[in-house]
Amino acid sequence: MELFNLKHPQQKVNFQQALTQGLGKDRGLFFPTKVPTLSDIEELLTLPFVERSQQILGAWLAEEIGQTRVDSIVENAFNFELPLQAVTEQTFCLELFHGPTLAFKDFGARFMAQCLSQLNPNRKITILTATSGDTGAAVADAFYGLDNVQVVILYPKGRISELQEKMFCTLGGNIATVAIDGDFDQCQALVKLAFEDQELKQALSLNSANSINISRLLAQICYYFEGVALLNQGLEREIVISVPSGNFGNITAGLLGKAMGLPVERFVAATNINDTVPRYWNNGHWQVNATQATASNAMDVSDPSNWPRAQYLMEHYLSRQCLQAISVDEAATLNRLKTMHQQGYVSEPHAAVAAQALEQGLAPHQLGIFLGTAHPSKFKQSVEQSLAIELALPKELAAVVNKPLLSHNLAADYQELRHYLFDSLLSD
Ligand SMILES: *Cc1c(COP(=O)(O)O)cnc(C)c1O
Repeated sequence: MELFNLKHPQQKVNFQQALTQGLGKDRGLFFPTKVPTLSDIEELLTLPFVERSQQILGAWLAEEIGQTRVDSIVENAFNFELPLQAVTEQTFCLELFHGPTLAFKDFGARFMAQCLSQLNPNRKITILTATSGDTGAAVADAFYGLDNVQVVILYPKGRISELQEKMFCTLGGNIATVAIDGDFDQCQALVKLAFEDQELKQALSLNSANSINISRLLAQICYYFEGVALLNQGLEREIVISVPSGNFGNITAGLLGKAMGLPVERFVAATNINDTVPRYWNNGHWQVNATQATASNAMDVSDPSNWPRAQYLMEHYLSRQCLQAISVDEAATLNRLKTMHQQGYVSEPHAAVAAQALEQGLAPHQLGIFLGTAHPSKFKQSVEQSLAIELALPKELAAVVNKPLLSHNLAADYQELRHYLFDSLLSD
């Protein structure tokens, strides 16, 4: 698989280089030189999830790493359910939150961890990543206990839910967590600075597990095909898929799927009031405002790092009407959450943003899927309060609620972070 740097197209790498480097020169994102197309899609849709995913990912990777290796990575990474739940006669939630940390990020994180451990078994590396909530848990779980990998996770102090924090800040071992006095964009900026710091990068063999890593995006293509396959009646009707979007990795994966041949009429990029992309898509101006805190906190991102990839795909592979971008405010999110509850479906704020945006443009002859990106009990407090119900804590969360937090606290300052990394990681 060949990829090029979107900022410096003459920089070309293969998959394994993109996997370990994360970003290219000048923080450029790697993008595939060629998107493979799948031949018999109808046949492919009849296969079970794991087998189908092995074929989809084989189309990208088999030439470079061999189909046997692809098969084993996929089998180890994708070992949980992803049911499609009907919410109304016309709309369905693809529940991507049945993995070990109860969010869709398990797909990408587990796939990436398997790639790194199966393709790089003898090198010691440091994963440095920023999280707005769920990436942290997914990455921590996927890498916990893997030999030769040290993980450092930055997150915005006080801006993720208590339960989210418990899930990844209580592990210890090879997982270090750092609470930053700042917002997610500042955490992400610190990670980017670290990757530009050649001395640090070399000393620690830095690698990022953020959604900028191409391995995560490739993994996420697979569940879009599953959504369409599960909607088996759907092939006679147009399908619209709505994606709750923050950093825009998830929707980029969906668009990659469409470029490969996934039969979907249109995607909806649904954001909360952090609406840089909807404003840009609808009026042509890219303007980043200050990030605002919302109930869908994993989407509180105002400078989404994956957007250049989505834009490149739109310009080179897809037509403009394949993508709609809609921002949903807090009141409409809450209303949608309540409406779904009345319809018999308990959801959470991220999926509710997507469900609401989906509702706005769905024609009677179309079927809509919105992605359920997190388990409702991950946002227990806000869901219970909004719906006046009580949620049972699933076993994954019950196991961590009473464990002490092990995080360090740092200012949003690169020199502080740099000292911390050198001191704590090179001391042993
Ligand atoms: C990360 C996350 C999102 C946003 O996904 P992106 O790929 O960053 O657009 C949405 N919902 C939840 C629950 C998340 O954790």
